[in-house]
Amino acid sequence: MKILVVEDEKKVASFIKRGLEEEEGFQVTLSYDGADGFKKASSGEFELIILDCLLPKKDGLSILTDLRAAGIQIPVMMLTAKAETTDVVTGLDAGADDYLVKPFAFAELQARVRALVRRSEQDRGAEIHFADMRLDPVNHKVWRGQVEIVLTAKEYNLLAYMVRNAGNVLSRANIADNCWEYPFETFTNIIDVYINYLRKKVDGQFPVKLIHTVRGKGYILKEG
Ligand code: CA
Repeated sequence: MKILVVEDEKKVASFIKRGLEEEEGFQVTLSYDGADGFKKASSGEFELIILDCLLPKKDGLSILTDLRAAGIQIPVMMLTAKAETTDVVTGLDAGADDYLVKPFAFAELQARVRALVRRSEQDRGAEIHFADMRLDPVNHKVWRGQVEIVLTAKEYNLLAYMVRNAGNVLSRANIADNCWEYPFETFTNIIDVYINYLRKKVDGQFPVKLIHTVRGKGYILKEG
């Protein structure tokens, strides 16, 4: 996943880059002014753009308006310095997919970015790959190699979440937050039960196991 961040405040830009690279495994390119940002954003190279409003040379809103006018539909998250409703409304009207008011906590940005990535994967219907596994997000179908693995909707959501976060240890609380809509405390056992269902289906008949338990912490999707 390649992300473009257009932000002239270098500290903020590098904070976003570091976080998204280290915690999400995304590839982040930085641009410090609007003219360069617009050029990069139009290149077709990126799957998501994080766009500051106030930028030298070309402001964020003009970049967004011009991108949409050119038919470029990459998801865009706007960063605004103030929570003024008019700014937010203008941004959303111009075709922003989400916005975040500065200053923000990294966790907030991370959650929003994940949600946008998820939505755009679903919109594009792009297949998601991990190891020999392939997920079709439109039809919720899964294969390992040539073998189709039949999952329930809940199992599919859980597996898709794990694939998007492959290589990261996912606590039961993380899983609950992302895959269930109820408070986590009430059903910690349910997560273990679902992981076991998934394990049987995803790993059962295959020599290379993908779902692993990290004792005392949660679960991780990795090869072997
Ligand atoms: Ca700025």
